[in-house]
Amino acid sequence: MKRRAFLGTVGSLGSLGVIGYTSRSPVETLEIRFWLSEQAATYDGVPDRIREYLQLAFDLEFWTLEVSFGGTVPVSTEDGANVTIHGEWPSRVVAGYFGRGEITPVADVNLLVTDGQMRTAPTGYGIPHIASVGGARHIAELEPVEFGDRYDVVPYRTPERVMQVLVHEAGHALGLNHDHGVTFRKGDAVAASPMLSAYAWDPEYDGDRSSCGTVYPETDDLGRKLTFSFSACAQRRLEGYQGGFTRK
Ligand SMILES: [Zn+2]
Repeated sequence: MKRRAFLGTVGSLGSLGVIGYTSRSPVETLEIRFWLSEQAATYDGVPDRIREYLQLAFDLEFWTLEVSFGGTVPVSTEDGANVTIHGEWPSRVVAGYFGRGEITPVADVNLLVTDGQMRTAPTGYGIPHIASVGGARHIAELEPVEFGDRYDVVPYRTPERVMQVLVHEAGHALGLNHDHGVTFRKGDAVAASPMLSAYAWDPEYDGDRSSCGTVYPETDDLGRKLTFSFSACAQRRLEGYQGGFTRK
């Protein structure tokens, strides 16, 4: 799609009115649907892992969560950020809302997972109701989520970091920002929640507390850990989420 056409699409997306943005208050059912690029679909277990970890992060007490797999979509780039920034994925989702094209979007989060690189930011991107992220080959290396486990804190390893970025981008799609995230001491390590994620250790990130006022501990000489659980601050924001797209 040419850039001008994309800007028109995103312009109308920004105003949201044209495609039936409505307020559903309170949201009773939160819908997250994910798709895979053709390259992402070549790895075993990726849809199962994405479903499991999205449920782990987003199955919160104030809504019923519906996570679904939308299938495989051909895209022109595996770059998990550019496929949204350059408009390709948002255009697909918006076309779907109008009943055109191959995909059937859902109201709340429409997430594309590609096999893009996960070393250099940006590795994913999220705008209202639409997100994308790379890293399918790393997701394939994750252990399955076992029923009953809490996963309060997990090691800072590439597969876990990649899955936390996936949760992070889905969080952006629901209106969360980086300062809804927190860090906290866990033994001799500092653990970062999904919205702060690796920014916790980025010297260029200048926030020292969450938007709810929780001050981040010093990270010097401490190990790194991650959690898939949203902070209380992020959960309060999610509880106030008032809905997304509807098809008229
Ligand atoms: Zn972010």
